[in-house]
Amino acid sequence: MVTETNQYENEHEHAATHDHGDAAELVPLSEHLQSVISAVQPLAPIGLALLDAAGCTIATDVVAHEDVPAFDNSAMDGYVVAGDVDEDWLDVTGEIAAGDEPMVSVEPGTAVRIMTGAQIPPGGTTVVPVEDVDEDGDRIRVRQAPSPGAHIRRAGEAVQAGETVLDAGTVLDAANIGMLAALGHAYVSVFPQPRVVIVSTGEELTDPGVERGPGAIYDANSYVLTVLARQTGAVTMRRMIPSDDQQVLRQTIEDLLPHADLLVTTGGVSAGRYDLVKVVLAELGDVRFTKVGMRPGMPQAFGVIEADPDRFIPCFGLPGNPVSAYVSFEVFVRPVIRRLQGRRDLSRPRVSATLEAPMPSVANKVEFVRVALRRRDGEWQARPTGDQGSGILRSLVEADGLAEVPADRDRMDVGERVLVHLLRTD
Ligand code: AMP
Ligand code: MG
Repeated sequence: MVTETNQYENEHEHAATHDHGDAAELVPLSEHLQSVISAVQPLAPIGLALLDAAGCTIATDVVAHEDVPAFDNSAMDGYVVAGDVDEDWLDVTGEIAAGDEPMVSVEPGTAVRIMTGAQIPPGGTTVVPVEDVDEDGDRIRVRQAPSPGAHIRRAGEAVQAGETVLDAGTVLDAANIGMLAALGHAYVSVFPQPRVVIVSTGEELTDPGVERGPGAIYDANSYVLTVLARQTGAVTMRRMIPSDDQQVLRQTIEDLLPHADLLVTTGGVSAGRYDLVKVVLAELGDVRFTKVGMRPGMPQAFGVIEADPDRFIPCFGLPGNPVSAYVSFEVFVRPVIRRLQGRRDLSRPRVSATLEAPMPSVANKVEFVRVALRRRDGEWQARPTGDQGSGILRSLVEADGLAEVPADRDRMDVGERVLVHLLRTD
């Protein structure tokens, strides 16, 4: 399992040559990821009603304050008896249904009719299932003698008062929520769902559904990132700023900050004349621009901004090419969202796969190649999904994962093993 420490640690050598990004300024991926994660703390825990807490991480251990079950009760519909019984007829002296407070006790030589889940009355030692008795009005005869103590669920047999039932850090699923309900808790202390504000930027952007002007493109990134953030468990707010104007960008982003636990922008962090998002983010907080030794996704801005007095939020400026934005989300944003959620395992599951086709790769950068996976002879086989250009979203459509080519390799050959980060997992 990948934890708060990161998974790229084995690749330490600083980058040193060609391709865009003067190699000397490239920061190794592992280093950048580490500094990003260490700048982020889990959100302050809140109390949520059980159903609202499903999918959240619990902030504290949960200790049982009472036994479950809380009292001895019958596991069967039948008759509760006292001590040994023989073939004689027993008088039935009363009846107890689930939810009743027992008003009778069981005397030797008598029986009390009892339903599944009903509390065992005083004196009762054993339950005889209704299938094992002959009934005649208010009398019964036991056909098959039960073993002493049979068919009674004992108080505390599932959980004993004082036991820890859920550890802090547990992600609340149906069984965990059920356990809390069974203990009588209506609320639970959890890390809240982070509110992630996603902003796409660029003079050329048009909203889908609106007629596209000359030179314009449809905004895909804000949709990609919003879906990824939601699937990671965030509450999202999406904005498109069809502008590269510094003032417009600044004003819009500033207005959004109070609504964010995390800000993610895309576009405007490269080397172009109109790449002003990185300038605006640096004006708004301690946000730095870094060339990271990875492809796609080299230009990265990250830092913290004071969103409200004394409330600092992490902030990403991701590159604008759609695949770069997607990969950057997977590599940096997803772990940060999970950290805000109080999760300890920050990354996607990974598998080792055998290459079915060679993968060229750029030296000095970790290369993420979109691959389709299939299972053959019990092994995963990986095959690149076509043109790997960072603008080609199409190749992600068919991808099951991102194969990671280490920075010290400039190609990988058929038959070699490659690590694949699985997309489309929880
Ligand atoms: P930028 O990082 O702003 O220089 O953009 C790099 C490339 O990505 C350009 O071709 C942009 O048109 C494209 N791009 C930027 N933002 C988006 C977006 N939201 N959706 C689709 N493509 C985008
Ligand atoms: Mg742009």
